Amino acid sequence: MDIKSFIPPQRILMGPGPSDVSQRVLDALARPTIGHLDPAFVDMMDEMKQLLQYAFKTNNELTFPVSAPGSAGMETCFVNLLEAGDKVIVCQNGVFGGRMKENVERCGATPIMVEDEWGKAIDPDKVEQALKANPDARVLAFVHAETSTGVQSDAKTLTELAHKYDCLVIVDAVTSLGGTPLEVDAWDIDAIYSGTQKCLSAPPGLSPVSFNERAAEVIRNRNSKVQSWFLDLNLVMGYWGAGAKRAYHHTAPINNLYGLHESLLILQQEGLGNAWARHDLHHQALKAGLEAMGLSLLVNEVDRLPQLNAVVIPQGVDEVIVRMRLLQDFNLEIGAGLGSLAGKVWRIGLMGHACSVRNVEYCLQSLDQVLGDMGVIEKGVAVPAAQTILTSAA
Ligand SMILES: *Cc1c(COP(=O)(O)O)cnc(C)c1O
Repeated sequence: MDIKSFIPPQRILMGPGPSDVSQRVLDALARPTIGHLDPAFVDMMDEMKQLLQYAFKTNNELTFPVSAPGSAGMETCFVNLLEAGDKVIVCQNGVFGGRMKENVERCGATPIMVEDEWGKAIDPDKVEQALKANPDARVLAFVHAETSTGVQSDAKTLTELAHKYDCLVIVDAVTSLGGTPLEVDAWDIDAIYSGTQKCLSAPPGLSPVSFNERAAEVIRNRNSKVQSWFLDLNLVMGYWGAGAKRAYHHTAPINNLYGLHESLLILQQEGLGNAWARHDLHHQALKAGLEAMGLSLLVNEVDRLPQLNAVVIPQGVDEVIVRMRLLQDFNLEIGAGLGSLAGKVWRIGLMGHACSVRNVEYCLQSLDQVLGDMGVIEKGVAVPAAQTILTSAA
């Protein structure tokens, strides 16, 4: 066996996540591992909570990163808030709403599905009809930013509706956190989960979550034990909770937490509002470039996510060849379509550290070459169109 150390290639990550990780965050990851009960580490945990509260715009005590990727944050919300026999209204307009349904079923609860077309936002009228028709429902669950389609739904309105009908909300903010306006306290969101590898630009493997007092009360007053020992918040809080004794529950992923701490610090230093504005501006520039070369976006303008652009694949183009050339010749990763959009769209991410002038121009230039060689776009016009947007904003 002649196995050498693994040295990954240098890529530019403009897919649906993971996104580019900055050198500052990579440096933080490489700092010395210390004990997860070390007083210095515990001080870092307190700061982590403050930084997460800032990013979520919440004062919720119960705010911390689950020690596993976004899917584990999703599962944490469902297994802690649901008990067998509960009824849950689940909105689905893409891949991730389908995973919520799976979670509900595996808790022994009953999902009531409210479906919208892939590429469209969740329709609040349909949600209200479902809430009216199911007065015994306890929870409304929906995805704020559907990464599979590039759509954002109106989390504020959906949360208001849920509360009007006495339901709690569970919100998937894996792709929205840090990239697009999200206000946990002002919108009165009860339970929310996110991920680190999308707009926070830290490596995957952690899932920030936050629960308000209403949700915490439900968790404390359960009739049955949470089915997952690892994700049971009543136990995890002995380590992460306010004034907790930092009792051993599981070994925290120490170095990964250094990375998240640094990426949240970068977000706080930039300012949340500035980060949202940066995502919007670079999306406008990318869109101008794509449209100039003759490509179009899947989602209508009002529902578009700036950080995830679903681009319609032109007729007759073998989309796999395009993505392979981008990766091999340009070290650029963009995403394929998922589920019913496979083969129909590419997904270009502008997330966190990857959302920059340099990346917008590089992506447009690379597409210009690859699609230009195939003769399916107008060459040489994309980058100037993007620059017009960027300079008029400067
Ligand atoms: C990426 C993503 C997830 C899953 O997160 P993982 O970190 O891959 O487990 C869940 N929901 C949405 C909307 C996502 O984009």
